[in-house]
Amino acid sequence: MAHSSELIAKDIDEYLHQHQHKSLLRFIACGSVDDGKSTLIGRLLYESQLVFDDHLAALEADSKRVGTQGGDLDFALLLDGLTAEREQGITIDVAYRFFSTERRKFIVADTPGHEQYTRNMVTGASTADLAVILVDARKGLLTQTRRHSYLVSLIGVHRIVLAVNKMDLMGYDRDVFDAIEAEYREFAARLGLTDITCIPMSALRGDNITEPSPNTPWYTGPTFMEHIETVELEDLAHTRPMRLPVQWVNRPDLDFRGFAGTVVSGTLRAGQRVRILPSGTESTVARIVTFDGDLEEAIAHQAVTVTLADEVDVSRGDVICEAREPAGVADQFEAHVVWMHEQEMLPGRPYLLKTGTRTVGATFSAPKYRVNVNTLEHQAAPTLGLNEIGVCNVALDRAVPFDPYTENRDTGGFIVIDRMTNNTVAAGLLHFALRRAENIHWHAVDVTKESRAQLNGHGPAMVWFTGLSGSGKSTIANLLEKRLHALGVRTYLLDGDNVRHGLNRDLGFTDADRVENIRRVAEVGRLMVDAGLVVLASFISPFAAERRMAREMLEPGEFCEVFVDAPLQVAEQRDPKGLYAKARRGELPNFTGIDSPYEAPESPEVHVNTAEQDPGQAVDLVLNHLRAAGVLPA
Ligand code: ADP
Repeated sequence: MAHSSELIAKDIDEYLHQHQHKSLLRFIACGSVDDGKSTLIGRLLYESQLVFDDHLAALEADSKRVGTQGGDLDFALLLDGLTAEREQGITIDVAYRFFSTERRKFIVADTPGHEQYTRNMVTGASTADLAVILVDARKGLLTQTRRHSYLVSLIGVHRIVLAVNKMDLMGYDRDVFDAIEAEYREFAARLGLTDITCIPMSALRGDNITEPSPNTPWYTGPTFMEHIETVELEDLAHTRPMRLPVQWVNRPDLDFRGFAGTVVSGTLRAGQRVRILPSGTESTVARIVTFDGDLEEAIAHQAVTVTLADEVDVSRGDVICEAREPAGVADQFEAHVVWMHEQEMLPGRPYLLKTGTRTVGATFSAPKYRVNVNTLEHQAAPTLGLNEIGVCNVALDRAVPFDPYTENRDTGGFIVIDRMTNNTVAAGLLHFALRRAENIHWHAVDVTKESRAQLNGHGPAMVWFTGLSGSGKSTIANLLEKRLHALGVRTYLLDGDNVRHGLNRDLGFTDADRVENIRRVAEVGRLMVDAGLVVLASFISPFAAERRMAREMLEPGEFCEVFVDAPLQVAEQRDPKGLYAKARRGELPNFTGIDSPYEAPESPEVHVNTAEQDPGQAVDLVLNHLRAAGVLPA
């Protein structure tokens, strides 16, 4: 293949100019272990090596004359693709490789095909313009081929190259190729994929990689390199309505208030009418500011700072939209969720959800179905495990601006973060807002929690006892209720076992069921607190995340977490219900402290050690807290 040394010698400025303005194609290469993916990528790198070497040498030699701009641009482009994933905290096994020919620059995401395939592929595909799906001509379409095709189409990559590799081992037989092509097109059509180019090749021998192969005279299509160099790059982001998620508010002095971020779609123009979501306020773009001076317009992928004509309230996470075609705003959605963590999804558990530049609290419903990525079947599933994909409803604690993922990858995609560990545990694609969210409103009532408190002569509260079985929660809660009752306080005791006889009769003791158990109790407790009661809740409640959820449902000062602490040996010795003995005999699986974890509270309002303090002392500590918090009169 020709390379650019001539131009470098003749006119370095022209060479650098051409190189800077070459288009960039990002693609993902998918294949099973022995399909020849590494060979193909290796060959591409090798074939383009001379150009790249020359390019580097030229930059080095001419750094004095042209400064570092030429070099900076390329590396920025290369890094550009990586920062998005880095920012999202996904550390994944995807190797990005860069190469360049005279016509185009390329970034290829090389995703290992081992068992972590789903999250690797989702990451690699999320920025790809095209997917190369490798097939071994000897084996034809495999389960993996279908799986990879499903995943890339889900992530929104609609341009496919089916690389039918190892044709040399099949004697370059046209019938073999035709049969594979026909079968693939039929399958791909079911996924809605129509832009498919099938190329017979041998990555090892170089057939149809850069030069048309004499071994396949019957093939009249492009070589692999020719195709990826010339395939039209339709960047749909440019055709979509303008969206600018605000990354940060730049306010160096009182006279300047700029909103910085990257235009993710459409064109931003000075004088353009915009709507800021979720608030819905409208204004007009005053200036588009960059380091190199003001712009008249900025297009998708450009980072800018805008100022608006009016003094409007805009904060980080807001989305500045074209006023005539704004994004939607909602707090409940249906979404595809790709689970990426060893710990399975726990429906009902509060997670963090990040969409665009905004992070909000989120809970998932149990999946409506799980997709069998091999057969595309929908299967019933209570949860999603590592690498599984399903469709769930998601409820957010605040309304967010959004577009359906199919219309905008940036404002329709999200990641899910575990609140305790900060790990990224899932990625998702928003389908649509749930209509029921629009039709349910919170009714304002005239008799309020405050008026009830006045009548009662005390404030409402939730006293939440947590600790191992046998630590003494019920004993202390029972004694506390008697003392409160004697003081004329309106109370109600929610007890773990009692609730499981009725409201939560359908739940067992898996992690998912424990989460749902506590979620329901917290919701019921919240209603009782609203009714003006001092609620005593006695539940092992082993997970910090759900105790925090219960806390966050109430107003500050209403929640009192009591850590009923006893060493496991002490609790096990007491064994008031004989449960530890059963668990030790293996008759009671998932027993907290034995084969299911207990996450101790880090900063409970009251901490009692029942190995050292008796129940009366524990009750006094709680009463003191309730007085200090103003729930009970001093
Ligand atoms: P939990 O509700 O936490 O499962 P229970 O209150 O049902 O625990 O059982 C705790 C057992 O330990 C009871 O038999 C209780 O009499 C005994 N116990 C001994 N010392 C204490 C203490 N300081 N506080 C609470 N319970 C204690």
